[in-house]
Amino acid sequence: MIIGIPKEIKDNENRVSLTPAGVYDLVQRGHEVLVEKGAGVGSGFSDEAYIAAGAKIVSSAADAWDAEMVMKVKEPLPSEFDYFKKDQILFTFLHLAAEPLLTKALMEKGVIAIAYETIQLANGTLPILTPMSEVAGRMSVQIGAHFLEKHAGGKGMLLGGVPSVAPANVVIIGGGVVGTNAAKMALGLGADVTILDTNVERLRQLDDLFEGKVRTCFSNLFNVEEQVKRADLLIGAVLIPGARTPRIVSEKMVKQMTPGSVIIDVAVDQGGAIETIDRITTHSNPVYEKHGVLHYAVANIPGAVSRTSTIALSNVTVPYALQIANKGYERACLENTALLKGLNVIAGQITYKAVAEAHNVPY
Ligand code: NAD
Repeated sequence: MIIGIPKEIKDNENRVSLTPAGVYDLVQRGHEVLVEKGAGVGSGFSDEAYIAAGAKIVSSAADAWDAEMVMKVKEPLPSEFDYFKKDQILFTFLHLAAEPLLTKALMEKGVIAIAYETIQLANGTLPILTPMSEVAGRMSVQIGAHFLEKHAGGKGMLLGGVPSVAPANVVIIGGGVVGTNAAKMALGLGADVTILDTNVERLRQLDDLFEGKVRTCFSNLFNVEEQVKRADLLIGAVLIPGARTPRIVSEKMVKQMTPGSVIIDVAVDQGGAIETIDRITTHSNPVYEKHGVLHYAVANIPGAVSRTSTIALSNVTVPYALQIANKGYERACLENTALLKGLNVIAGQITYKAVAEAHNVPY
């Protein structure tokens, strides 16, 4: 199979979908990999490194898109929609529930869209989203610590406090991969950490994992309201796989936060869990202020630590890419139910229930 690796074009997105090691695996199994010139530079991988691994370097995005399967990191932007062609396999993060224009373009062009974020193992875990959630969860605390500094617009508070001064309250909504990794970092920096989740079994596991050092709290309206009010750093880390994130924190709750507090809504890529997050922000302009609270809504947080993220992502996508390339997508999906769950659009039809529901189309 011919596989194309275009350069990412989202603001400050320095990841690339395959490392040279990933290219090597595909080429050794008889596939051809076209890498757009300079695609790996932002992650520290030169064109020469790709050539040594067996890739062919192509000079334009159009050439990299002229492939049977295109592997990307982030969802295509409108300027890339023209590259789509019938029966082309697109294997990337898509977040279609929050992307009506992209969904329409994929349907109209007859693209076979396989979303990284909905590939799901039998135990319910999301093997391709997981490493990016680990990165974003860990980053959310270091970003939050920065924006709590006075010169960055925050209330001038040190996450861990110092002896004689209380630490900051970090409140995390959603105790999955993002939430757990955020909690690890916040705890490591000495903050006072609370995690809310609707899944009591998950809260039980977190209580064990953190040996009682984090507060766990059932996520209902009353508790969310109480915890949001006391948060210096609020982290949104909720996910209903494939679906638009439910709005859990209302504007009224945000108004009750103290001035200079910080909200990092990691779940913004699926639409966001916080009502006052009304736009996606970028790495070059990451925050805006509303009701005296800083709002951070970057949808590609891992792009900031591109080297780490690219390697972590390529490690988990390559085994699936190999199955698709070796067997064709139909057989690969029939033989692997985790991969089957990644299918979001085929021949103009949405094939993932939560995405169909988000767009009000028959499934
Ligand atoms: P996950 O499935 O591991 O965890 C989600 C958790 O949310 C689960 O424990 C679930 O029980 C909980 N939850 C569901 N409804 C809830 C509610 N009403 N209140 C409290 N908790 C609730 O998911 P994850 O891998 O941690 O991902 C979280 C979000 O972060 C996703 O939207 C994901 O796409 C996003 N993400 C964003 C970036 C970024 O760059 N912005 C990067 C990685 C992941």
